[in-house]
Amino acid sequence: MEKVRLKYRVVLIAVFVAMGVLMGFAFFYTMDKLMASFQMSAESNIVEVKKRFLSDTVNNVILEIEQRQGNREQDYRRMIADITQTLEYLHMSTTGQDFLENALSYMQSGDRANIGLVVFEASTDEVLFQSSGESDSKVIPHAENVGYPIVVNLDYAEYRFTLYVSKTTIDEDVKSQIADMIHSYQFSENAYIWVNQIVDYEGGDDYAIRLIHPNLIDTEGTYLSTNTTDIGGNHPYLEELEGVKRNGEIYFNYYFKKMDSDVISEKITFAKLYADYDWIIAMGVHLDDVESFVKDTTAEGQRSLQTIIVLISLMMIVLIVFVSVFISFLEGWYHRNTNKELKKEVYRDSITDLHNRRAGETQLKEALLKFKRSGQNSAVMMLDIDDFKRINDLCGHDAGDRALRQVAQALDSNTRSTDLLCRWGGEEFVLLCGASQLEDIEQISSKLLSAASDVVLECNNTGDPIKVTISIGASVFQQSDSDFSDIVKRADEALYNAKEQGKNRVVIDKNC
Ligand code: GH3
Ligand code: MG
Ligand code: MG
Repeated sequence: MEKVRLKYRVVLIAVFVAMGVLMGFAFFYTMDKLMASFQMSAESNIVEVKKRFLSDTVNNVILEIEQRQGNREQDYRRMIADITQTLEYLHMSTTGQDFLENALSYMQSGDRANIGLVVFEASTDEVLFQSSGESDSKVIPHAENVGYPIVVNLDYAEYRFTLYVSKTTIDEDVKSQIADMIHSYQFSENAYIWVNQIVDYEGGDDYAIRLIHPNLIDTEGTYLSTNTTDIGGNHPYLEELEGVKRNGEIYFNYYFKKMDSDVISEKITFAKLYADYDWIIAMGVHLDDVESFVKDTTAEGQRSLQTIIVLISLMMIVLIVFVSVFISFLEGWYHRNTNKELKKEVYRDSITDLHNRRAGETQLKEALLKFKRSGQNSAVMMLDIDDFKRINDLCGHDAGDRALRQVAQALDSNTRSTDLLCRWGGEEFVLLCGASQLEDIEQISSKLLSAASDVVLECNNTGDPIKVTISIGASVFQQSDSDFSDIVKRADEALYNAKEQGKNRVVIDKNC
């Protein structure tokens, strides 16, 4: 019985543990999936943010170019205003050839050299001086000048000065400022801006010049080819050129060397055409740098999630242990209670509520063993109601049952709690008692005879009460007894003798 219970408990706990493990696995699997999708969405969001950052930065460079063009034009206008004043002053102090020489030497020094100058003979319109560079007297009209951002004509009697600033001059200034600006930029994750100037929009070898490239400064000024491929077999320059020709701008991926390292990895780049300069302004970021950023960003979330997982797992384990212990306890309690009831049922006689024969036999076996082991003897008395058949016949079976109960009650209340009184069968009882001395047996049996004879049974059929008596046969264990049935047999024989001798008496076995 205990083995079955143990087995049952082990199975129960195993089922709970298996459930816990399964739930744990399911939980971890779900969390893993959740983490993966969390990371994926974080990655795509971060890539989107990065892309926006790339395009914003490139667009800001273009805004900066346009702003600086305006600023530079203002600078030149201010410079020309200063020059005008100085030339005015010179012309007041000197005239003729002296004035011209002074004016030219003044104009050719410092920043002023960038300003285009044409000096005409006022009377003849003959060009007396023309500053070097792209300026061409033919394109400097006499009075109205079209196509130059700044043109100022100054008259000094015999001379006429035309001061001008071409767009190319302003552009060159701005380009060099922008190159300095881009070189000085510092971005996180090895990002940088570079500029290629398109020479041939049709592509091919030498289609562009690498103008600004903070990653490969030594190669600035070299020609690029649309036939160049990266380690992934992509044609980044071709893709870029076609993209900007089509939409003015493009996002594209390819492999390139990382800044300050020889590692080649995939990068995502935004490139935009600034058509005025034929510039492709681009900026990119390496995807592995983004991934490490994603890892850093998601690590915090992952840590919190792990803490939650550990806490929930612990709670689950505690819950499982608690439920297992509780169910086991409940099951034990139920088992103990039903067992008690069952034992009672198994060892009780239903009519008299005394112990039954099964209980009697068990105790007899133990008493014999005790006698054999320690020599401590016990007496066995066989008690039988006299003329019980007659009671049944006279008063009915129910009255017979009642008589059984009354006698049982009378006998039971005259035995010690350490004795065992059981209904052996029919109207026979067996008493197993500790006393084994003859006098004790005689005393006990006479007490029992007297208690039984006090029982008066109401008999409905006759109307007269019926007196009940019992006969007793007693014996004690013998060394020769091999089974409890030996002593029962002797007690039974003694009982037979008591009946023979007239009933309502005790016969004690001669061995006592
Ligand atoms: P003796 O004095 O020699 O013992 O005679 P007796 O009539 O008591 O013995 P006998 O063996 O002739 O009859 C026993 C009767 O007990 C027979 C049976 O019907 C009756 N009996 C056995 N068990 C029960 C029971 O549980 N209830 C009732 N009412 N009668 C029972
Ligand atoms: Mg009998
Ligand atoms: Mg009888």
